[in-house]
This record gives sequence, structure tokens and C-alpha cells, in this order.
Amino acid sequence: MHSLAFQDIRVDVIKNLYQPFSVGVDVLRLDRLHPHVSGNKWFKLKEHLKEAHAQKQKALLTFGGAYSNHIAATAAACQEADLGSIGIIRGEQPPILSHTLKLAKDMGMELYFIARSAYKTKPIPHEVWQRHNPAEVYIVGEGGYGIKGREGAECILQYCERERYTHILAAVGTGTTLAGIAAAALPQQEVIGISVLKNHLDLEKEVAALLPPSRPTRFTVQHQYHFGGYAKATPALFSFMNNWHEFTGIPSDFVYTGKLFFAADNLIKKGYFPQGSRILLIHSGGLQGNLSLPKGTLIY
Ligand SMILES: *Cc1c(COP(=O)(O)O)cnc(C)c1O
Repeated sequence: MHSLAFQDIRVDVIKNLYQPFSVGVDVLRLDRLHPHVSGNKWFKLKEHLKEAHAQKQKALLTFGGAYSNHIAATAAACQEADLGSIGIIRGEQPPILSHTLKLAKDMGMELYFIARSAYKTKPIPHEVWQRHNPAEVYIVGEGGYGIKGREGAECILQYCERERYTHILAAVGTGTTLAGIAAAALPQQEVIGISVLKNHLDLEKEVAALLPPSRPTRFTVQHQYHFGGYAKATPALFSFMNNWHEFTGIPSDFVYTGKLFFAADNLIKKGYFPQGSRILLIHSGGLQGNLSLPKGTLIY
């Protein structure tokens, strides 16, 4: 078992690629936190783990799909924090576990499966309460949307010199990470979220709802880089991800960060950023998700 390697988080400077556009581009490599459990998810869980300890709870329970980064991260974070972990998984138990679920199980997570039709209401199967006392189980919602998640995500910018940047870009699912970054950003910085969901137009409201009332809310969301929707991809996206890796040496995942880097590249080439802009891209990890792709789709 690898432990979380905060010392490996670093900023990579993208050389040459964007010089013709007179902007500087750096990438904050949260993906280096852990080989499987990389990225923003640990930050989103951090305050929940603290709270679970404070309440003397024995396990953390959460929900997710068979390829969920949140499930993998919860299993690892709980193992590291000496807490049990319980995953309620969408769909019937497959004959062979996905690599994500296998990983989670290897890290000590108890898995319970519920049919897709029943999953919407997030029921907790009775078997869970046969093994656990409800008072000792801390529940985190699917995707980890919420204030506690935002509080944890505020720490992300501590891993770079935040004052260097004019723009900060991050991939957005629930918007919790973006809210943390927006809350921690400096007033003059522009925070831009790249939505990986199709037409999720309430996102701005949902992010704003997580921001502390005292902080300025200078963030925007771009909605045109979803490539068909959540976990959807096109050959153009894969080809971009392969090229970008070749030029920069930085791998990305097809659900979140591939779309982020594509969007940044596209916005730069469209002249969105004024000359002299210094742009920080948050690599929020998620690389384990690429294991669900057919072999050869990505060259890394
Ligand atoms: C979950 C996830 C996100 C989105 O985080 P939210 O806080 O839900 O917006 C971004 N990148 C990766 C790699 C993720 O796993």
C-alpha cells in the first residue's frame, strides 16, 4: 500500500507549447499524490475524516459507481486514517470486479451493491446495519458535494505559489473543488471551471452556494467542453490527450483532466487570455479511470 505522498505534489511548467500566445502555463500535479488515489478527492474528504474522528466513528460510508474516483479515494483515505470504509455501489455485483472496486476492496472497503433503479434514492442496504452500529458510521454523500468538501479543497492552492497566477482553471463535476479554489484564490485572480457535464447549467448556483459569504466570488464556468457528457469521450479527445502527453509529459484522464487541458489549450488558442497571463491548471488526478478504456486508446 502506498501512502499519500504530499511531498510529491509539484508545479510543472509547460515550456514552448504556449509561448506563441504570450501566456505562461503551469500545472499543479495533484495526480502525484498517490498512484491510484490521486487528486482532489482526498482534499474533499479531509474535513469529513476529521469530523468522523472527532465523533469517534468507526467507519465512513459513501456512494459511487464501479469506476468512481471518489470510491477509490475514500477507501485509501480511510485506510490511512485508520477508519473503516463502506462503499454503496450503483448496479448489481458483477462477476468480476472493476479495477476500481478491486482496488477499493484491497484497501479494506466493504462493498454493497444496489440495483440501478433503487440507487437514485441512495438507500443503505440492511446488511450494512447488521454489521455496523449506525451511530458509528459517518456518511458522505455521492461525489462529496458540500461545505466540508469545499473547506478541504481550499488547501489545494497551498501547494503552489498562488500569487504568481492571473487565472486558475479546474475541471468541475459537483463544483466542490472549484468552490474551494475560488474561496482560496486572491481577489484579482480569475477562477475558471470546466464542466464535464452536459448542460448542467445550475452549476454556477451550486458552486456559489458553497462559497463563504465573506469571500469574493470571481469564478466562471465554461460549459462547452463536455465531449458529450459525463464520462463520454470522442476520438478527438483521446488524440488531444495523447498529443498533450507527448508535448508536456503530463498524463490526463478522460473524464476530467483531459477535458480541462483540452479546454485550456482551446481557450489559449482562441485568444481568451490577455498577453502576459500566467495560467495555473489544477491536475485533479483521476488517472485510475483510464484503466476502463480499451488497451491502446492512450499511449501512456
Ligand atoms: C471528482 C473529480 C473532479 C471534480 O470534482 P468536484 O469537486 O466534484 O467538482 C475533478 N477531477 C477529478 C480527477 C475528479 O476525480
